[in-house]
Amino acid sequence: METPAFLDRDRPDVPDLVVPGGVTPFYLKGRPVRGRMVHLGVLADVLLTRHDHPAAVTRLAGKALALVAALASALKFKGSFSLQIKGDGPVSMLVADCTDTGALRFYARTEEDALNALLAETSTPTDRELLGNGYLALTIDQGPDMERHQGIVEIAGDDLATMASHYFATSEQHACWLFLSCKMTDAGWRAGGLILERIAGEGGTHVVGDADADANWETATILASTLSARELLDDSLSAPELLHRLFHQEDLHVSQPRALAYGCRCSRTRLVDVLQGFSNDDLDHMAQDDGQIVMNCEFCNIDFRFPRKDILSRAEQD
Ligand SMILES: [Zn+2]
Repeated sequence: METPAFLDRDRPDVPDLVVPGGVTPFYLKGRPVRGRMVHLGVLADVLLTRHDHPAAVTRLAGKALALVAALASALKFKGSFSLQIKGDGPVSMLVADCTDTGALRFYARTEEDALNALLAETSTPTDRELLGNGYLALTIDQGPDMERHQGIVEIAGDDLATMASHYFATSEQHACWLFLSCKMTDAGWRAGGLILERIAGEGGTHVVGDADADANWETATILASTLSARELLDDSLSAPELLHRLFHQEDLHVSQPRALAYGCRCSRTRLVDVLQGFSNDDLDHMAQDDGQIVMNCEFCNIDFRFPRKDILSRAEQD
């Protein structure tokens, strides 16, 4: 069957953008430390400015994007890594996800009155003030053949990095050190992160209380904490350069960087498939006075419009 003319366009107005050196994995040889440095580069600006959020919400979203970009780079198979935070604060829902190929997207749902009230008090609320009390979930979805892995913890701490390290400590029993940052710079919005993970020693052993390993982990986190947001978000400083500044005395090994890209998978074709699942009655109700059905992608913040007459309910097609 020929593609109808109204479907013959894919994702209008969505940028096709790839940042080649988005995530740089590294490890410190002979120490129980591996990590990732994340630079969203111009992708931060493109993803974040599609949404009309106040700067405080944009900063939080940028940090969430840097976090999922770092975590998804550890996926061993095809799939995606997704962060969901649901709380009782002015940002009632925050979703960010990243696939194994580095395709990134997010959306944030805000409660306007509560958000305006908070921003009237302070223009720089903490992540916790934005999110309130609630839950943080991380989901690894590696396709239909693999079991979905999801961990949920209560929101703890004042900033997203603390919330995430609390997640790893309680849900995964795994020590992590995180630094996440997102700011408006001269070049536009920039976001990035540095994550250290404590890994088992040689041969997979992790001796609790191993003094050398404890000391090496502590040294790595102390060195990592000297990284400033200004350095991290400066386009002219590459990840290998920054990592060398931090860890040159720790037998640093920098691995092949991985790309990040604009990652919403919405398309007209996919949305038509969703629409065709409804009955003709429902479709009639969805249509506006001008005969159009409008579907919004919350990730891209785009309205897709479909003439009602072109959509046939699947159940009533035969
Ligand atoms: Zn989309």
